[in-house]
Amino acid sequence: MTEISISRMHFPVTALGPGQRLAIWLQGCSIRCQGCVSMDTWAAGPMTTVDNLVRAAMPALQAADGVTVSGGEPFDQADALRVLLSRLRAVTAADILVYSGYPLEHLKGLLKTFDGLIDCVIADPYDQRSAQTLSLRGSDNQRLVCLTPLGRDRLGPYTEKPMPAQRSLDMMMDDMTGEVFFAGIPRPGDFHRLAALLEAQGHGVTVTADRRLDV
Ligand code: SF4
Repeated sequence: MTEISISRMHFPVTALGPGQRLAIWLQGCSIRCQGCVSMDTWAAGPMTTVDNLVRAAMPALQAADGVTVSGGEPFDQADALRVLLSRLRAVTAADILVYSGYPLEHLKGLLKTFDGLIDCVIADPYDQRSAQTLSLRGSDNQRLVCLTPLGRDRLGPYTEKPMPAQRSLDMMMDDMTGEVFFAGIPRPGDFHRLAALLEAQGHGVTVTADRRLDV
């Protein structure tokens, strides 16, 4: 029984690839880019099993056009990720996009061990000094590489596609805790600006985005 640590899962997400996507954020990241908007995913978290995760994902997988796996750093749990993706591949024709903060050169050998389970990867660490003009990427140094015909068909057009002028984020609310999560590519500082606006109206706000702006 393979164990995996996840931060959250949501469907539908529309801001992390084409169509309505099942998004799975894995918990734990050893890379720790300055300016990361997901510091809440850095620490190790509780474990579940891939079986439990796939079972919980099944209703969404019936309707999903694609699956996006992000984090945290998915390849910090490479063995569990491989098992998860092979289980997903067996039950859905959706494309599979995986984000990683590791440089593409670092991932190349590892990607061979995934043997067609990943249609596209977006690699390289977030660089807050880089421009942010490319679709699906937090910084322009990040490379989108399609690894399969399905990936080239679904995400190939995004390789050099500019970020839309009117970008959108998906917003999710945890009914139990009242916490609000966003999926997508915010502009640098967007969450701190949102927090300042809400605090000015008397709301208490905690933002998980990194405040370290000096590189
Ligand atoms: S941007 Fe991704 S790889 Fe970089 S620290 Fe944040 S979660 Fe980790």
